[in-house]
Parts: sequence; C-alpha cells; structure tokens
Amino acid sequence: MTAIGNRRYSSQMIIRTRTVVAMDGAPIENGAVAVSGNQIADVGGFDDIKTRNTGEIVDLGEQVLLPGLINAHCHLDYTCLRGKIPPRKSFTDWIRAINTEKSELSPNDYLASINDGFEEAKRFGTTAIANLTAFADLVSQLRPPVRTWWFAELIDIRAPERANELVDAAIEALKQTPSWGLAPHALFTASRDLYRSCEEMARRDNILLATHLAESREEIEMFCQASGPLYEFLKSIGRPMDDCGKETALGLFVGALGERALPRWIVAHLNELAESDFELLEKSDSRFHVVHCPRSHNYFGHSPFAFDCLRSLGFNICLGTDSLASNDTLSLFDEMRAFQKNYPRVSPEEILQMVTVNPARALRCENALGQIRPGFRADLIAIPCSGSTDIFGQIIAFGAPVSWSMVNGQVYRDW
Ligand SMILES: [Zn+2]
Repeated sequence: MTAIGNRRYSSQMIIRTRTVVAMDGAPIENGAVAVSGNQIADVGGFDDIKTRNTGEIVDLGEQVLLPGLINAHCHLDYTCLRGKIPPRKSFTDWIRAINTEKSELSPNDYLASINDGFEEAKRFGTTAIANLTAFADLVSQLRPPVRTWWFAELIDIRAPERANELVDAAIEALKQTPSWGLAPHALFTASRDLYRSCEEMARRDNILLATHLAESREEIEMFCQASGPLYEFLKSIGRPMDDCGKETALGLFVGALGERALPRWIVAHLNELAESDFELLEKSDSRFHVVHCPRSHNYFGHSPFAFDCLRSLGFNICLGTDSLASNDTLSLFDEMRAFQKNYPRVSPEEILQMVTVNPARALRCENALGQIRPGFRADLIAIPCSGSTDIFGQIIAFGAPVSWSMVNGQVYRDW
C-alpha cells in the first residue's frame, strides 16, 4: 500500500455493499450508503437508496461497510519504539527504559514516528485518533491523514511552579488545530495545580481532557502506602511526596477536581482499584469516560480490568492501543481480539461499540461519528465478509489491512 493510497473524491456517491453495519439498528443486507461531500446523506437498502439519491454508484461487492474505527488512547510519538523495550517486572523499570530510549530521539525522529503511526493506524481501519503528544510544538508540522484530537501531554514533576505556563504554551501550540485537548500525564508526574489549571481551561474553552489513572500496582503502592519502586524513584528525582500515604489514586483525582468536573475527562487504564474506590464510584453521580488498552495491559501484567463492574456502574468504556512502547501494532482489530480473549462473554457487537459509538461519545462527537447515520461525517471502512450469520464476530476476526476506507468523504483504496 502506498503512503496514503489512491485518493478519490466525489461530491455525490452511493456505496453499495453486501452488508452495512451502521451501529444503529440491525445490519442491512444488500445495503448502501449515500455520501454527499464529507457527510452521510442516507443509509438503507440499496434499492431504496438509489431511488432516493443521485451520484456515482460504487459497488464494493462481498464486503461489510462499517463506521471507521476510533482509537480512544494512543501516543504516536513512540511508534518507533516498537519492540525496543521487552516487558519488565516493574512498571518503574519500564519508565526508566522508555526515558533512556527517548533521550536518543530528535524532533525529526518524533515527526517520522508520528507519521508512521498515522499510516499504520489508517491501514488497519482507524479513521479517528485521540493522540496524546509530549511535543505539542511539533503538531503544526504534521498533516494527519485521519481525524485527530491532539492532546498535549503535560508533566511538571521537575517544575511544579510552572504549571500555568505549561498549560498556556500547550494551548498556544494547539489552538490552530481543529480538535485538541489537554492531558496532564498522571497523578505521579503532574501536580494538583496542573490538573486544576487544565480543568479551568477546559471549563473556559470547552475542550477535552485526558489522563492516566490507577494504571499500575506501583502507582497504588506509592499513593496508598508511600512506598515501593515508583515512590522511591520519584522521590529520588525530587518530586514532592506529601500526597502519598493518604488516599488511593482515584480518591486523589476525584478530590482534586470535584465530582462535577468528571464528565469532561477521558481516563486511561483504571486497572488498579481498591474496595474504597468502587464505593466512591458507586456514590458518585458523575461518570468520566474510561479507556481500556487490552494489549498494553497484558504487556505490563496489571490486575484484571474491572470491566463488568465499571460497565454496570454506567461508565462509557472505550478501547485504545496505547503506544508501541508497550504494544505491537496500532490495529484496533487486534485490540478488539485481545479484549475478546479476556472477556469471551461480551458480545462482538458490544466490543465493536467500544471502538465506534463509545469513543465518539467520549470525544463529544456522538452526533457526528461512530455510526452510519444521515448527517454524520463520512468516515467509513469496508472489509470482506462471507455472509456468515455472525457478522460482528467476523468483523472482529478480520486481521488484514483494510483495503477501502473513507475519511471525511475522501476515499482511500488499495486495489
Ligand atoms: Zn497512555
């Protein structure tokens, strides 16, 4: 496949396939989608669609057409670190290892890494990405081939007095991009002031927020017991440790921001929760969005993700790939299969929602992305289907590059 495939653009187009999975009602056999510019104009049975709409008819044949996939959490900065860091026993050792790798990389290396990541994600059917970057100042040099939310990943561990300055610089770097947000990295690397400053900006400018929370046992040990490898490491580099030994990470997060602020947050991981955390979540009316990264989770060997419990509490659960410093590919199909292996009782349809409908909601685009509906953006992918009765199972089992996709009404094909 070429860098971005062969582009075709048509202002009016009717795409016919064997099956349309709109993620909005039952799959449609002999279905079609009418696209006008960058929007979906109509969806339904092929005969009805061609009666009601005009435009070139593109017959994709024995394929299923579905909404483009949405990666709710990744770091394309580190695409070039694939295979560079073998799994470690300790999360803290992994942090040390990635810091060593990062010290070798130049801005040009990061630009190439991010571009490679975009191409790989698109090749595997991703049409929208929530991407955390430590290099917001490089973003103006990039032209993403998929819909991108740039989150400035912020760390003030070495200079907590500069929290506001950091936030202002990130906003300056990202404000020209169509979609962006702020991401204080984690409670162990970003100060309470930095979280609050991001929260204040988000309230003022109505932007999105993301963070990592309760990812590893070492993080929990640090906050709950003021001990362990992460505690010792961060203390040795000068982090003030007076927030340790008192509360869980979740308790600190909710305490710092207040319940009303929570719905703005897209929270990655939430792997290590105590009994008191579940009580806290049960009592709270506010729900943030949760991103689970199954393969990164397996890589680190975290405690089992409390999917059933979080789902029954009403959390909006999405899937993400995390970075290739703790994963092998940027394919959300691979991610869905890894999730399915760990949670075989969850239906394939619900798993597909976790990379379509759910992340669209987390990104506050539930009226534009994640489903094939009139008025929604024309972000679509097609994959081969054999007419099995288990169409959702077949979608999740798909393991090859996606040969036809459309991003914002623009067609990319590889045939
Ligand atoms: Zn992450």
